[in-house]
Amino acid sequence: MTEPSTITLATSDHGNVVLPEPSWCAGHALHDPESLRVDLVHAGPSVECTYLGANLFSAELVQSPFAESSTPLLGGRTPGVSVWPLSRTLDPVQLYSLAADLDRYADHLRGLADELAMVLDGGEER
Ligand SMILES: [Zn+2]
Repeated sequence: MTEPSTITLATSDHGNVVLPEPSWCAGHALHDPESLRVDLVHAGPSVECTYLGANLFSAELVQSPFAESSTPLLGGRTPGVSVWPLSRTLDPVQLYSLAADLDRYADHLRGLADELAMVLDGGEER
């Protein structure tokens, strides 16, 4: 069995903090040594939805191991998935619900595309 990986991060209020590094964390290359310990965040690789160069949506695994509050939807010590532009951290049930809503939205887009094609072909609207 291998030892769990750890990482040392400088903080302005607790000096160097050694903490376990989850396997899903993408690392801390942009870590600011002036960070407070409570603000340390593990974040996984971002999953993005872009179209025509615009970032429409992104999501990533996150965990704030020293968070002092556990306000639902705002992240905390329990890992979650942070979703932009919602600015919320979701649990698995909420994330499946979001995915279902996006499926329905994609169906609406396909419906609009069908309607537009009919309009452009000179057909009747609705
Ligand atoms: Zn990390």
